Amino acid sequence: MVEGNEKRFPRCFRCDDCNWHGASFRAICPACNSAKIVEASIADKGEIVDFVPVRFPPDSLKDVGPYVSALVKLNNGCKIFGIISGSSEQLSIGTQVSIRSFDPESRRLYFEPI
Ligand SMILES: [Zn+2]
Repeated sequence: MVEGNEKRFPRCFRCDDCNWHGASFRAICPACNSAKIVEASIADKGEIVDFVPVRFPPDSLKDVGPYVSALVKLNNGCKIFGIISGSSEQLSIGTQVSIRSFDPESRRLYFEPI
């Protein structure tokens, strides 16, 4: 999807037995103890399942300005944290978003409402 950045782009894993999804690799499925963890493809769209407006970003994110820290459930079932710049006024649980960009330096993943 993002050519050249595959290795550093956030990854998604799933359990072949119970369909558990996670953003970090586990040798053993935390849901059913299966060892059949396989890499799932990353979907580029999803919906917000939780979000927190950040008015005063930490030093590492000062350049972003006010932003929203969002937990997004991608359409393949993987949940992943990302940043939505701007205010949270137009956002709610269930808002559809798509991946806007990924910065491999800072590992920031940006979403935008669709
Ligand atoms: Zn499982």
